[in-house]
Formats: sequence, C-alpha cells, structure tokens
Amino acid sequence: MEQRKKTYYYDLGEETVRKAKETTPKPKLLLHTCCAVCATVPLEKCAEAFDLTLYFNNSNIYPEREYDRRLNELRRYLTDHYPSVKLIVTPYQHEDYMKDLEEFKDSREGGVRCKICYTKRMKEAYDYAEKHGFDFFSTVMTISRQKNSLVLNQIGEELSESHPKTAYFYSDFKKNGGQDRSIELRNLNGLYQQTYCGCEYSVRDHTEH
Ligand code: SF4
Repeated sequence: MEQRKKTYYYDLGEETVRKAKETTPKPKLLLHTCCAVCATVPLEKCAEAFDLTLYFNNSNIYPEREYDRRLNELRRYLTDHYPSVKLIVTPYQHEDYMKDLEEFKDSREGGVRCKICYTKRMKEAYDYAEKHGFDFFSTVMTISRQKNSLVLNQIGEELSESHPKTAYFYSDFKKNGGQDRSIELRNLNGLYQQTYCGCEYSVRDHTEH
C-alpha cells in the first residue's frame, strides 16, 4: 500500500471545508454524530462552511438511560452554541441492533465487532444522506483516539461507491490538535464525558473515551 502522510485524511478534510466556504449556496452536509464531546470540533470546523445536519443513530449505546444522556447533552450543546444546526434522531432499537454484533462479543475493542458497528451506523446515515439530497456525508467518529481513522475512512470510501449522489467527506478530526481542542471545549462547557464506547461489551471492557 502506498505510504501516506499521517495527516492525509485530515488534509483532505481541510480541503473539503475550504472549497465549501467558497461555494454558494452552502453545500449540504450530513454528519453522523455519536455524542456532544465528539461533535465539538467537527461543529467548529463545519457549521459555517456547510448547511449542516447532524444524524444521531446510535442504537449501539447501552443502557437506554445512557443513550438519553448522550443525546440530551448533544441537544443542549446545539441549543447553546449552534441553534441553526439541524438534528435528526432515529428510534432507539438496541436489541435489534446488537444481533449482528453478538457473535463477536469477545472481539477486542477496535476489532471486527467495532468495524461492523461503525459500518452499520455509517451506512444507515449515508443512505439517508443519499436519499435526501445531501452533497456530503461524514462521521464525527474520527475525533476519537480509540477509533482508527484509516478504518473509518475506508468504510466511508467503500460506501461512497453505492452512494453516487453524496460525496464522502474524508476526515481525521483528532489530528493537528483536534483531540486537545475537544477536551478543552468539553471542559469549558461542562459536557458529560462517557467512560466507555457504547455497547454492553464496552461496559464490560470499560476503557476511557
Ligand atoms: S465497543 Fe463501541 S464501536 Fe465497538 S461494538 Fe461496542 S459500541 Fe460499537
């Protein structure tokens, strides 16, 4: 495989934002969003440049009160700082969602189970973007140091082949100080920070996020 700069996906993302700022009317971006803390930096980068909609489809989160807590924190952050950004929330269907993951319950975090989990949520959001005339689709998950941006961007690239109307927006939001900035914004705004990724298996393995 060709050797790429460590900031390859970050640079592609910056270029997409730069071009969006020069485009009138603003391009429509659908951004899969898992929680408020992960959304801070992508919002800071994208809210001005795009006609932005967040898509919260995270039935992986367990238990439901944790799902509600993450969603409510995201709503609060948008109301306080980005009132014009739209938010779409899909129904919480945890039991159904986990059926595809159960077989891989003992897989390490970041392994095959998580790849399926990223793909399920990204595909659902990308389907919505394609169906509803969005110019771009992306996910905030590349901000997380626990999530491999190469894997996420490869999933996005593969999905883009079956979504010809909506371009995939490559990103690596954690790079060039992005991770530190998200922690700064979390602390400034007193945002709730979960201590595990989402599903019951990650509660069991309990790594900090
Ligand atoms: S650890 Fe996170 S990404 Fe992996 S399967 Fe569980 S919720 Fe999904």
